[in-house]
Amino acid sequence: MMEQRVAMITGASRGIGYAIAEALAVAGYNLAICGTREQTINAAADKLKKHDVDVLPKAVDVSDQAAVQAFVKDAVGHFGRLDVLVNNAGITRDNLSIRMKGEDWDAVISTNLNSVFYVSQAVLRPMMKAKFGRIINISSVVASMGNPGQLNYCASKGGVDALTRSLAREVGSRGITVNAVAPGFIATDMTAGLGEEARDKLVEQIPLGHLGAAEDVAASVTFLASDAAAYITGQILHVNGGMYM
Ligand code: NAP
Repeated sequence: MMEQRVAMITGASRGIGYAIAEALAVAGYNLAICGTREQTINAAADKLKKHDVDVLPKAVDVSDQAAVQAFVKDAVGHFGRLDVLVNNAGITRDNLSIRMKGEDWDAVISTNLNSVFYVSQAVLRPMMKAKFGRIINISSVVASMGNPGQLNYCASKGGVDALTRSLAREVGSRGITVNAVAPGFIATDMTAGLGEEARDKLVEQIPLGHLGAAEDVAASVTFLASDAAAYITGQILHVNGGMYM
């Protein structure tokens, strides 16, 4: 890279978000990262600094628009630029539709979908000024396939896919690309709760025969952030071992 670029990653304290932050640090990006808890996001930042990059950690609830705007302002103030945004923070609150509580619907839509609007909107000004930007949203295979018991989660990720295409059309002329990466089943805390039987059933549906690793997702994000992906926008890149084609 000519100059050291800056990437913001939401939900980077652990799992896929941490793996993305680490892959981008290895590629030479300075980082602004957030999670919900100060202690864990600071600990993640300490580990990432070993890659010889500057890391700005902050406890931010991405479903809080004012907090998100303050985080972006801090990051632009600290680094003087913001080149890449990875909207990764996400939660599940699974239940069959008939039993799903309104608060579980709302929590998933605010954390997984509203946040993508809030953070993306906040980074547009600095990216437009620079005539360069990469926005990468972490969707899910279930946005395309559907999944019983995950009505709220599937709807939130389907919204992320639609937002990705619309924003890509809005900001393409400003040198900003907007894409999504849709992971299949990846071994993280989010999927750790699956029983052995459910896991075996899932693996049967995956042609590659195993769950993915957070690093598999991180590699695709690093590619979409790079100059090699300059002519790709509005796309959903599936990283799922072939479970959905
Ligand atoms: P994870 O291990 O549960 O980690 C979730 C991350 O998001 C944590 O860093 C968490 O911070 C952060 N987070 C949650 N709510 C937040 C909020 N309101 N504000 C800020 N940060 C918040 O999940 P993961 O498996 O790595 O998933 C990462 C993304 O990939 C999610 O969008 C998920 O939907 C998507 N995905 C995962 C899979 C999979 O199989 N794992 C498959 C498809 C898509 P704290 O540590 O502070 O809680």
